[in-house]
Amino acid sequence: MFDYHLHSTFSDDARSPMPDVIEAAIAQGLEGIALTDHLDPFYQDDEYPWELDLPRYWDALTAAEEQFGGRIRFAKGIELGMTQGEGVQACEDAVTAYPFDFVIASVHHTKRAPIHTARFLEGRPMAAVIEEYYTEVLACIRAFKSYDVLGHLNVIDRYTEGYAAESVYMPYAEEILKQAIADGKGIEVNTSTFRYGMADRGTPTPAILRRYKELGGEIVTTGSDAHDARSVGAFIKEGEEILLAHGFRYVATFRGHVPTLHKL
Ligand SMILES: [Zn+2]
Ligand SMILES: [Zn+2]
Repeated sequence: MFDYHLHSTFSDDARSPMPDVIEAAIAQGLEGIALTDHLDPFYQDDEYPWELDLPRYWDALTAAEEQFGGRIRFAKGIELGMTQGEGVQACEDAVTAYPFDFVIASVHHTKRAPIHTARFLEGRPMAAVIEEYYTEVLACIRAFKSYDVLGHLNVIDRYTEGYAAESVYMPYAEEILKQAIADGKGIEVNTSTFRYGMADRGTPTPAILRRYKELGGEIVTTGSDAHDARSVGAFIKEGEEILLAHGFRYVATFRGHVPTLHKL
């Protein structure tokens, strides 16, 4: 099993130092992991600016690889929070400055506001919220190609009042999937949904996974999105079962942005 979405205290809201996260992964018997701490350029929150001290982060990743690399397959990763324009330019600058193995591209905010806040969610119909979120993802990946998988593609479902209907979000999601596939990019099954009590929804939703497969997509990673050592590896098994149930036969890992497909 592989956990390709892990946060350490380099992320503003995470609680476990990197060595503890890796020790937890080894204790769980995971075959491979990717550390993917947050960088969200231009995020509008003083308390959680989601900045990342890249030189320090890179040093920590390198030290961790030296210390633990013999015990677990270890990918040096990062999770980017994209926004259009100067946001993706800053993402590009960050990930091309270091030879990362693996880059998750997510959208956590738009120029309007962070997507989980009242400023983003309230005072307009849900369809408008859905449209703005997915349109942001699509605009970003039309400009930005230095990533490997899209993070938690339907993450907006965590914050809306009730879940958007397929007919509302799928037209947008489909365009995103087509773009990602055309660019040779993957998606992730983000198993934090189980921890958040949203197992009925899934990240991505069954409709998104199905469509990605139908369109010829093959690259999927599994990740717990753990923000503490206790959650490392959580529900990865369930994530693999979801992939199998949707006809996927492989799970992906990355080295130097090159995917390796492992039989499930
Ligand atoms: Zn994220
Ligand atoms: Zn994350």
